[in-house]
Amino acid sequence: MTRPATSLAEADLAHFFHPQTNLAVHAETGPLVIDRGEGVFLWDDSGRRYLDAMAGLWCVGLGYSEPRLAEAARRQMERLPYGQSFGSRAHEPGIRLAERLAALAPAGLSRTFFACSGSEANDTAIKLAWYLWNARGEPKRKRILARRRAYHGVTQASASLTGLPLIHAGFDLPLPFVHHLTAPHVIQQAWPHESEEEFALRLARELEATIADLGAETIAAFIAEPVMGAGGVILPPRGYFDAIQPILRRHDILLIADEVITGFGRLGTLWGSDALGLAPDILTCAKMLTSGYQPLSAVLLKEDLYQEIAAQSGANGGFGHGFTWSAHPVAAAVALAVLDIYEERDILGHVAQVAPHFQRRLALLGQHGLVREARGMGLIGGIEMRAGADALRLQAAALREGLLVRAVGGDTVALCPPLVIGAEEVEDLFDRLARALRALD
Ligand code: PLP
Repeated sequence: MTRPATSLAEADLAHFFHPQTNLAVHAETGPLVIDRGEGVFLWDDSGRRYLDAMAGLWCVGLGYSEPRLAEAARRQMERLPYGQSFGSRAHEPGIRLAERLAALAPAGLSRTFFACSGSEANDTAIKLAWYLWNARGEPKRKRILARRRAYHGVTQASASLTGLPLIHAGFDLPLPFVHHLTAPHVIQQAWPHESEEEFALRLARELEATIADLGAETIAAFIAEPVMGAGGVILPPRGYFDAIQPILRRHDILLIADEVITGFGRLGTLWGSDALGLAPDILTCAKMLTSGYQPLSAVLLKEDLYQEIAAQSGANGGFGHGFTWSAHPVAAAVALAVLDIYEERDILGHVAQVAPHFQRRLALLGQHGLVREARGMGLIGGIEMRAGADALRLQAAALREGLLVRAVGGDTVALCPPLVIGAEEVEDLFDRLARALRALD
């Protein structure tokens, strides 16, 4: 191969359009080019090593060097590298994965529709809710309730569900079908002297009042991440989901759980819904479904909802939604191998073992003067800084310590390491982060 005339950095600056990046800053700084990975570590193209405390983008649960996943992809590529699922066509990995997810899913979510990203999954969930209410003869039910600081993706619909100003800025979003409620963010939104439980009840009263105001007959669904990730690692106040679910049920409003980050063990349980007590009608997941090795997402729904949709599709002459790469066989084969490994290696057991250690070290960071709160659950953590700029400074200082973290939600540094992280690597992670924090003094 002839050697390209330009360096990677030059070619990047000339041609690569970076997603979710401050492009003006990028023109000055250039890219961080990652060359290879092993376990929880990454190396850049100059040979420098980093501990990836974000598992890529909350996804590489099994770390960067799992040979069985490469082998599963290779075998599937050799046998059937592409297979579609429109018009009743099917293939073994897609069918087996749907069957497997039905066995793992929270009660009753036994049907799976596949897409390629979290955004597409949430977009699909909204379309399913609309389709369903149209089928039920309630076409006015189009509104979706979401929360400020939620992150649900970047397609026009999922970006609209997202409650972060940066995701809307310059795009004329959110679209008017979304109504945002208060973020369930205790330290920012609870009143002084209000307990978590009282705050949760106040949020439930806000929901009730919003439904009364908009009219239940105009609301299709409520969407929530069990724990908010990209909005700032926000754990809802105690009692929140217990307080709001009966209200949703009373008004026949569907509950969509966005488990794109929380699915497959992040919070110490297989699903965030298990950890937080959600009983969703529709659940979206992605990321750790393939440990990030392939782009794949899934929308799980209850069988009775599927049957209603199926009947309507007969009347409509077909179900007019699906992607070229829905249930891509290579992605599905990798997902099946991932689920095997999660079980064989008892990944949930491993998370149960390391998470208390992770959370203890995380909590200690809360004592630093620049930190407003250090919070987390399972193997996710958020370090909320006193000023928004401090989150970006900490991200930069961590990078200098060879640690990849991510400033999210404007004021918080997120931690979300691979689930396979070991006890010594947890020490290493927090030693680097503590040094980075001290460097800000
Ligand atoms: N939902 C949640 C909770 C997410 O965290 C993300 C991405 O981080 C998405 C949806 C969007 O996923 P994707 O980037 O695959 O479109």
